Amino acid sequence: MDQKKIGSFIAARRKDICLTQSQLAEKLGITDKAVSKWENGKSMPDLSLFRPLCGLLQITLNELLSGEFISDENLKEKSDQVLFDVVTNWLGTDQWERKTQASVPVVLKLKHICRRYETESTSTTALKDVSFTVAKGNFVGIMGASGSGKTTLLNIIATMDKATNGQIELNGQNVGALSENDLARFRREHLGFIFQEYNLLDTLTVYENIALALTLKQLPKENINPTILDLAAQLEISEILHKFPYEISGGQRQRCACARAIATNPDLILADEPTGALDSVSAKQLLETFVMLCRKYDATILMVTHDALSASYCDSILFLQDGEIKASLVREQENKHAFFSKILETMGKIAGGVTYVP
Ligand code: ADP
Ligand code: MG
Repeated sequence: MDQKKIGSFIAARRKDICLTQSQLAEKLGITDKAVSKWENGKSMPDLSLFRPLCGLLQITLNELLSGEFISDENLKEKSDQVLFDVVTNWLGTDQWERKTQASVPVVLKLKHICRRYETESTSTTALKDVSFTVAKGNFVGIMGASGSGKTTLLNIIATMDKATNGQIELNGQNVGALSENDLARFRREHLGFIFQEYNLLDTLTVYENIALALTLKQLPKENINPTILDLAAQLEISEILHKFPYEISGGQRQRCACARAIATNPDLILADEPTGALDSVSAKQLLETFVMLCRKYDATILMVTHDALSASYCDSILFLQDGEIKASLVREQENKHAFFSKILETMGKIAGGVTYVP
């Protein structure tokens, strides 16, 4: 991606449609300085601005990122190159490191899980014979299109729903054998949750939200404050601990939810589309936080996502389609970009075609 060329193209298009730098900035809700930096090739617009910027400049995304008009006959080749560049840019080029241990304990084991929904007139099989294991300290992704059974699977693992058949073990304990009365306590003690919304209680400050989780887990009182302060520093939320959830951004809320989920040191953290409501910068930060939690705190995270970019942060991925696991990928010693390519390839094989629009 040639930043200078893109900058000149933005400047030329802006002049073509008779806008000043400040007029363009105002329409996008950003500073004049940002526009001037793009135009000088010193920075790139954030991913979240691509769409509105293209709209204003009356160009396509591919044209923006290649810094020139593209004629139809060159479209395919250019699109591929542009996509490749965007992704490389977004993911960065860091080499991936994972501690390799000889024998890592298994945290979660699913054996032949089935789930059927029966109504008077219809029967839907949401999960068909799903079996897999998750080892401690791993960040595992579950990918699948809408309706493939991701939420059903997560709810069953979260003990919010029961499988029609099959068995789930968390740290060797048969979860299905727990009584209704024991389930709430089991969830509190062994599981952490990070969902797209509704993660934090609105009437409590961030600090109180985390403290509540620790109190419920019966952590000694004198340990609560140091635990929260330590985690807040790691997750870069120290400054906002005394704010209410509605006073902070979506990305900050998700990092607070991470702090709360990890604070009680759960066996497994479950995340359902956690980046779904975030802009690309916050999404990236959250995914980096997940990786940090796995590496530093030995957390085990199971994340449902339909987004290949998010999934490329995972250590391994299971691909769900029509309630069945159709493929799985384990990340070798490769960078995120190479892993991302593999994910797209696998999605393509499963679905018989895939499109990606940033
Ligand atoms: P995803 O999260 O991947 O979008 P879901 O797990 O929500 O998929 O749904 C999987 C399938 O099960 C879909 O066909 C859906 O319509 C069906 N399903 C989900 N929940 C129910 C329910 N409560 N009653 C009947 N069918 C359901
Ligand atoms: Mg879902």
